[in-house]
Amino acid sequence: MAVKILIIEDEAAIREMVEMSLSAVGYQVIQAESGEEGFSMLNEHVPDLILLDWMLPGMSGIDFARRIKKDPLCSEIPVIMLTARGEEEDKVRGLDSGADDFVTKPFSPRELASRIKAVLRRASPMSSEEVVEVDGLKLDPLSHRVTANEDKVDMGPTEFRLLHFFMTHPERVFTRGQLLDNVWGTNVYVEERTVDVHIRRLRKSIAGSGHDRLVQTVRGAGYRFSSKP
Ligand code: CA
Repeated sequence: MAVKILIIEDEAAIREMVEMSLSAVGYQVIQAESGEEGFSMLNEHVPDLILLDWMLPGMSGIDFARRIKKDPLCSEIPVIMLTARGEEEDKVRGLDSGADDFVTKPFSPRELASRIKAVLRRASPMSSEEVVEVDGLKLDPLSHRVTANEDKVDMGPTEFRLLHFFMTHPERVFTRGQLLDNVWGTNVYVEERTVDVHIRRLRKSIAGSGHDRLVQTVRGAGYRFSSKP
Protein backbone atom coordinates (compact mmCIF):
# COMPACT_ATOMS: atom_id res chain seq x y z
CA MET A 1 0.00 0.00 0.00
CA ALA A 2 1.57 3.28 -1.08
CA VAL A 3 1.73 6.05 1.49
CA LYS A 4 -0.89 8.58 0.50
CA ILE A 5 -0.27 12.31 0.79
CA LEU A 6 -2.86 15.02 0.33
CA ILE A 7 -1.52 18.39 -0.72
CA ILE A 8 -3.76 21.41 -0.25
CA GLU A 9 -2.24 24.36 -2.07
CA ASP A 10 -3.74 26.98 -4.37
CA GLU A 11 -0.60 27.40 -6.49
CA ALA A 12 -0.77 24.79 -9.22
CA ALA A 13 2.98 24.97 -9.90
CA ILE A 14 3.78 23.97 -6.32
CA ARG A 15 1.19 21.18 -6.33
CA GLU A 16 2.61 19.76 -9.56
CA MET A 17 6.18 19.99 -8.33
CA VAL A 18 5.26 18.23 -5.11
CA GLU A 19 3.25 15.54 -6.88
CA MET A 20 6.05 14.87 -9.34
CA SER A 21 8.83 14.72 -6.80
CA LEU A 22 6.91 12.69 -4.21
CA SER A 23 5.49 10.17 -6.64
CA ALA A 24 9.04 9.67 -7.94
CA VAL A 25 9.99 8.38 -4.48
CA GLY A 26 6.94 6.13 -4.20
CA TYR A 27 4.28 8.23 -2.53
CA GLN A 28 0.77 8.48 -3.86
CA VAL A 29 -0.22 12.14 -4.07
CA ILE A 30 -3.71 13.62 -4.23
CA GLN A 31 -4.30 17.31 -4.78
CA ALA A 32 -6.77 19.90 -3.57
CA GLU A 33 -6.64 23.61 -4.33
CA SER A 34 -8.60 24.87 -1.36
CA GLY A 35 -9.44 23.89 2.19
CA GLU A 36 -13.02 23.26 1.13
CA GLU A 37 -11.92 20.87 -1.59
CA GLY A 38 -9.50 19.25 0.85
CA PHE A 39 -12.37 18.53 3.22
CA SER A 40 -14.50 16.90 0.59
CA MET A 41 -11.55 14.69 -0.41
CA LEU A 42 -11.27 13.48 3.18
CA ASN A 43 -14.67 11.83 2.77
CA GLU A 44 -13.19 9.44 0.25
CA HIS A 45 -9.51 9.24 1.11
CA VAL A 46 -7.59 8.71 4.30
CA PRO A 47 -4.23 10.30 3.61
CA ASP A 48 -1.27 9.29 5.76
CA LEU A 49 -0.18 12.90 5.83
CA ILE A 50 -1.44 16.32 4.75
CA LEU A 51 0.72 19.06 3.25
CA LEU A 52 -1.14 22.24 3.96
CA ASP A 53 -0.50 25.69 2.54
CA TRP A 54 -1.00 28.37 5.14
CA MET A 55 -2.06 31.09 2.70
CA LEU A 56 -5.13 29.68 1.00
CA PRO A 57 -8.02 31.58 -0.53
CA GLY A 58 -11.20 31.05 1.49
CA MET A 59 -10.55 28.86 4.50
CA SER A 60 -7.00 29.48 5.74
CA GLY A 61 -4.51 26.71 6.42
CA ILE A 62 -4.74 27.40 10.14
CA ASP A 63 -8.53 27.09 10.12
CA PHE A 64 -8.30 23.88 8.14
CA ALA A 65 -5.76 22.39 10.57
CA ARG A 66 -7.83 23.37 13.57
CA ARG A 67 -10.96 21.86 12.07
CA ILE A 68 -9.44 18.50 11.25
CA LYS A 69 -7.81 18.26 14.68
CA LYS A 70 -11.29 18.46 16.16
CA ASP A 71 -12.70 15.83 13.82
CA PRO A 72 -12.35 12.29 15.21
CA LEU A 73 -12.12 10.90 11.66
CA CYS A 74 -8.95 12.80 10.85
CA SER A 75 -7.47 14.22 14.04
CA GLU A 76 -4.60 11.71 13.95
CA ILE A 77 -3.44 12.57 10.43
CA PRO A 78 -0.14 14.43 10.65
CA VAL A 79 -0.02 17.87 9.05
CA ILE A 80 2.97 19.67 7.61
CA MET A 81 2.30 23.36 7.06
CA LEU A 82 3.82 25.07 4.05
CA THR A 83 4.67 28.66 4.90
CA ALA A 84 6.36 31.60 3.25
CA ARG A 85 9.61 32.87 4.67
CA GLY A 86 9.43 35.77 7.08
CA GLU A 87 6.78 36.99 9.45
CA GLU A 88 4.20 34.44 8.36
CA GLU A 89 6.32 31.62 9.63
CA ASP A 90 6.66 33.12 13.11
CA LYS A 91 2.98 33.81 13.19
CA VAL A 92 2.12 30.24 12.25
CA ARG A 93 4.49 28.81 14.81
CA GLY A 94 3.00 31.06 17.44
CA LEU A 95 -0.51 29.89 16.73
CA ASP A 96 -1.85 26.70 18.15
CA SER A 97 -2.65 25.17 14.78
CA GLY A 98 -1.90 21.56 15.61
CA ALA A 99 0.57 21.27 12.73
CA ASP A 100 3.25 18.62 13.20
CA ASP A 101 5.93 20.45 11.29
CA PHE A 102 6.54 23.48 9.07
CA VAL A 103 8.36 23.75 5.79
CA THR A 104 9.28 27.18 4.49
CA LYS A 105 8.87 28.07 0.83
CA PRO A 106 10.77 27.85 -1.39
CA PHE A 107 11.75 24.29 -0.46
CA SER A 108 13.61 21.63 -2.36
CA PRO A 109 11.85 18.34 -3.16
CA ARG A 110 14.55 16.54 -1.24
CA GLU A 111 14.05 18.67 1.86
CA LEU A 112 10.30 18.12 1.71
CA ALA A 113 10.68 14.36 1.31
CA SER A 114 12.97 14.10 4.30
CA ARG A 115 10.62 16.16 6.49
CA ILE A 116 7.71 13.95 5.42
CA LYS A 117 9.69 10.86 6.28
CA ALA A 118 10.53 12.21 9.73
CA VAL A 119 6.93 13.17 10.49
CA LEU A 120 5.61 9.81 9.28
CA ARG A 121 8.16 7.98 11.38
CA ARG A 122 7.03 9.88 14.46
CA ALA A 123 3.36 9.39 13.62
CA SER A 124 3.51 5.66 13.02
CA PRO A 125 6.69 3.96 14.15
CA MET A 126 5.58 0.62 12.72
CA SER A 127 6.65 -0.12 9.20
CA SER A 128 4.40 -2.29 7.10
CA GLU A 129 6.67 -5.30 7.48
CA GLU A 130 7.08 -5.24 11.23
CA VAL A 131 5.26 -7.57 13.57
CA VAL A 132 2.47 -5.70 15.32
CA GLU A 133 1.07 -6.68 18.70
CA VAL A 134 -1.84 -5.32 20.68
CA ASP A 135 -2.90 -6.89 23.99
CA GLY A 136 -1.58 -10.33 23.10
CA LEU A 137 -2.93 -10.28 19.56
CA LYS A 138 0.06 -10.56 17.25
CA LEU A 139 0.24 -10.20 13.47
CA ASP A 140 3.31 -10.99 11.40
CA PRO A 141 2.97 -9.49 7.90
CA LEU A 142 5.94 -11.42 6.50
CA SER A 143 4.90 -14.92 7.51
CA HIS A 144 1.19 -14.02 7.29
CA ARG A 145 0.55 -15.41 10.76
CA VAL A 146 -1.81 -14.22 13.44
CA THR A 147 -1.66 -15.46 17.00
CA ALA A 148 -3.81 -14.62 20.00
CA ASN A 149 -2.03 -15.22 23.31
CA GLU A 150 0.37 -17.48 21.35
CA ASP A 151 -2.44 -19.58 19.86
CA LYS A 152 -2.67 -19.68 16.09
CA VAL A 153 -5.64 -17.83 14.56
CA ASP A 154 -7.02 -18.70 11.14
CA MET A 155 -8.58 -16.03 8.95
CA GLY A 156 -9.15 -15.23 5.30
CA PRO A 157 -6.87 -12.92 3.30
CA THR A 158 -9.29 -9.99 3.45
CA GLU A 159 -9.68 -10.30 7.22
CA PHE A 160 -5.90 -10.46 7.47
CA ARG A 161 -5.46 -7.23 5.48
CA LEU A 162 -8.23 -5.57 7.43
CA LEU A 163 -6.66 -6.55 10.75
CA HIS A 164 -3.24 -5.38 9.59
CA PHE A 165 -4.65 -2.03 8.54
CA PHE A 166 -6.46 -1.65 11.87
CA MET A 167 -3.43 -2.65 13.94
CA THR A 168 -1.17 -0.16 12.17
CA HIS A 169 -3.79 2.62 12.44
CA PRO A 170 -5.14 2.24 15.96
CA GLU A 171 -7.41 4.67 17.78
CA ARG A 172 -8.76 6.18 14.57
CA VAL A 173 -12.30 5.96 13.33
CA PHE A 174 -12.69 4.85 9.72
CA THR A 175 -15.84 5.02 7.66
CA ARG A 176 -16.76 1.99 5.56
CA GLY A 177 -15.74 3.94 2.46
CA GLN A 178 -12.34 4.70 3.92
CA LEU A 179 -11.81 1.04 4.85
CA LEU A 180 -12.76 0.00 1.33
CA ASP A 181 -10.32 2.51 -0.10
CA ASN A 182 -7.47 1.42 2.15
CA VAL A 183 -7.99 -2.32 2.42
CA TRP A 184 -9.68 -3.25 -0.85
CA GLY A 185 -8.14 -0.49 -2.97
CA THR A 186 -9.63 2.42 -4.86
CA ASN A 187 -10.18 0.65 -8.15
CA VAL A 188 -12.37 -2.11 -6.81
CA TYR A 189 -16.10 -1.84 -6.85
CA VAL A 190 -17.42 -3.29 -3.62
CA GLU A 191 -20.55 -2.34 -1.75
CA GLU A 192 -20.08 -0.74 1.63
CA ARG A 193 -21.95 -3.47 3.42
CA THR A 194 -19.22 -5.89 2.32
CA VAL A 195 -17.11 -4.19 4.97
CA ASP A 196 -19.60 -5.24 7.64
CA VAL A 197 -19.44 -8.84 6.46
CA HIS A 198 -15.65 -8.95 6.76
CA ILE A 199 -15.68 -7.11 10.08
CA ARG A 200 -18.06 -9.81 11.36
CA ARG A 201 -15.76 -12.57 10.11
CA LEU A 202 -12.72 -10.86 11.58
CA ARG A 203 -14.40 -10.51 14.97
CA LYS A 204 -15.47 -14.14 14.89
CA SER A 205 -11.95 -15.34 14.15
CA ILE A 206 -10.49 -13.51 17.16
CA ALA A 207 -13.45 -13.90 19.50
CA GLY A 208 -12.12 -17.07 21.15
CA SER A 209 -9.43 -15.07 22.93
CA GLY A 210 -11.73 -12.09 23.54
CA HIS A 211 -9.85 -9.88 21.06
CA ASP A 212 -13.02 -9.12 19.14
CA ARG A 213 -13.52 -6.29 21.68
CA LEU A 214 -10.66 -4.45 19.90
CA VAL A 215 -12.71 -4.10 16.70
CA GLN A 216 -15.24 -1.50 17.77
CA THR A 217 -18.30 -0.13 16.06
CA VAL A 218 -18.58 3.64 16.25
CA ARG A 219 -22.22 4.42 15.75
CA GLY A 220 -23.01 6.69 12.87
CA ALA A 221 -19.35 6.77 11.80
CA GLY A 222 -17.74 3.39 11.16
CA TYR A 223 -15.14 1.26 12.90
CA ARG A 224 -12.19 1.76 15.17
CA PHE A 225 -9.44 -0.54 16.43
CA SER A 226 -8.74 0.25 20.05
CA SER A 227 -7.52 -1.44 23.20
CA LYS A 228 -9.53 1.07 25.24
CA PRO A 229 -13.13 0.18 26.05
CA1 CA B 1 -0.95 29.93 -1.23
